[in-house]
Amino acid sequence: MAYLWGLILLVIGVGCWLLWAGRAKWRTTGLPSGEVVYSDTDQWEEQEKPLVSRRYGLVGRPDYLVRILEKGETIPVPVEVKSRRRPAEPYASHILQLATYCLLVEDVMKVRPPYGLLRYADATLRIPFSDDLRAQVLTAAESIRAARKANDLARDHQDPTRCRNCGYRRACGPEALFS
Ligand code: SF4
Repeated sequence: MAYLWGLILLVIGVGCWLLWAGRAKWRTTGLPSGEVVYSDTDQWEEQEKPLVSRRYGLVGRPDYLVRILEKGETIPVPVEVKSRRRPAEPYASHILQLATYCLLVEDVMKVRPPYGLLRYADATLRIPFSDDLRAQVLTAAESIRAARKANDLARDHQDPTRCRNCGYRRACGPEALFS
């Protein structure tokens, strides 16, 4: 159980890191913008259980899986639903979260999805699960794992509001910007 919680915390950590890193560096990431596609939500199956990959130390639950037929093979494709309208460019954090689900499907279901679907309130984007994107997910997961093992971490921002609302403030000592 403790191991599972560790995995869950790792995925939450990956998400936070991606949100922070992704927004600031969008233009330099080379991440795909995605292609708008028609999506028939009748075909979507809700994914109830988390997908757990011990190999990559990841766990996550896409909102849906949709089965596509490609070259005579049925392939599960993860779908991540966002309630907001489609941004001008999808956030890097959204893309990398979806790509993490693609990697989980690949490892757990032993078939690699060619893409994932990002469903916004007003559009659905198809995001190719390229080798490059796959490598970025692995790098992000490795960075989070390394950070979790480190004894001491320096603060990486100058935002007192984040510290004021942070659950680790008491343990953080002099790094905290709000006491
Ligand atoms: S209190 Fe510490 S851990 Fe929390 S946001 Fe501030 S620097 Fe980061």
